[in-house]
Amino acid sequence: MPTLPKSSLAYAKEQDQKDKLAHYRDRFHIPKDEHGNNWIYFCGNSLGLQPQHTQEYILQELKDWANLGVEGHFEAKNPWMPYHEFLTDAMANIVGAKPLEVVIMNTLTTNLHLLMVSFYQPTQTKYKIVIESDAFPSDRYAVESQLSFHGFDPKEGIIEWSPREGEELLRLEDLETILDQQGDEIALLLIGGLNYYTGQYLDLKKITTLGHAKNCMVGIDLAHGVGNIIPNLHESGVDFAAWCTYKYLNSGPGSLGGLFVHEKHAYDKTLKRFSGWWSHNKDTRFNMRQEFDLMPGAEGYQLSNPPILSMAAIKASLDIFEEVGMQNLREKSISLTGYFEFLINEIDTDRIRIITPSNPLERGCQLSIQVKNADKSLHQQLTNNHIITDWREPDVIRCAPTPLYNSYEDVYKMTETLKTLL
Ligand SMILES: *Cc1c(COP(=O)(O)O)cnc(C)c1O
Repeated sequence: MPTLPKSSLAYAKEQDQKDKLAHYRDRFHIPKDEHGNNWIYFCGNSLGLQPQHTQEYILQELKDWANLGVEGHFEAKNPWMPYHEFLTDAMANIVGAKPLEVVIMNTLTTNLHLLMVSFYQPTQTKYKIVIESDAFPSDRYAVESQLSFHGFDPKEGIIEWSPREGEELLRLEDLETILDQQGDEIALLLIGGLNYYTGQYLDLKKITTLGHAKNCMVGIDLAHGVGNIIPNLHESGVDFAAWCTYKYLNSGPGSLGGLFVHEKHAYDKTLKRFSGWWSHNKDTRFNMRQEFDLMPGAEGYQLSNPPILSMAAIKASLDIFEEVGMQNLREKSISLTGYFEFLINEIDTDRIRIITPSNPLERGCQLSIQVKNADKSLHQQLTNNHIITDWREPDVIRCAPTPLYNSYEDVYKMTETLKTLL
């Protein structure tokens, strides 16, 4: 059989036919235009699409609340008291952690603060925090406010790990230089494991080794990594990590986040932290005793009884991830994004350029397309064509074909439109 040219619709369709995960697309609500055609949704990096069965999961909890009231804590089909435990194993599998190390609670920035209460313990001489120069703003604000809280000047206290002049991506050897020169003054590295802007996936294990060699704590923001790459958090040795679940984990706007605390800290009762009744030993929580009995592991970071409706939406999504498996998703992702990259590079233009690493092991599904002269109208034109991407200042269109619900045909149609627009 003659092989189809890669830059043809027929080839894209053939890839979809061969794709063993293609049917998962039918398990999601895909927004449609006024003619009933599916949007091309490349924005799972910002807000993942809704699984079809999420409604059913949430309705179950509404029904149990209606029929059982407070008894639902123990009598609901999925009892609310231990509800977060129903999410732990799947969550741990996705980030490569032990169940002891993971919990779903609060939201991302809140969790970063709670974790820094434990893992940012500055002294007068060792107090600085390393972040990426293009760290996500919320992470930067969190770090600045932690520095101020401890009485330091944020301008003095933040060390930026920057790309070199004329480059977009970070180099590990530059982090090494920072640590060699200033390691004695650095208390914490807080790094986006997969940079939200460039899509660069950093080597977590190497970062951790470099940080630990200078007695720094190492924390990772996995907002763009979770459900996208396979971070092997336990094995990497990072001290802590936090993420949200509304991006690649499709749990709905503003849904709860997750956090990881490495097993080596699980039983350390000397770590400073902020506590609440949900950090207390489950067996005696309702004795309402005065003496606090801290739960080991990540669960000990919980403060409050959690919002079950949001957890139901997370469970709906994690059940799909359990079924499909991260390894399978990652394999498709590498192929799908590789195809996307190929088609973009075929376009004969100097108006756009991919800044994401070309090595699949150094990126997830997202490609960041830098637009010449920061011409934002290109993004608007894509949106007008129902191709949903997002614009990030100063000059990047982020496009994330997600392996769960995007097809090769989506990728083909997107790049055809892009070609026409250019
Ligand atoms: C999406 C994202 C956030 C968002 O924080 P919330 O507290 O969930 O609003 C923070 N940091 C990074 C790196 C992100 O990608």
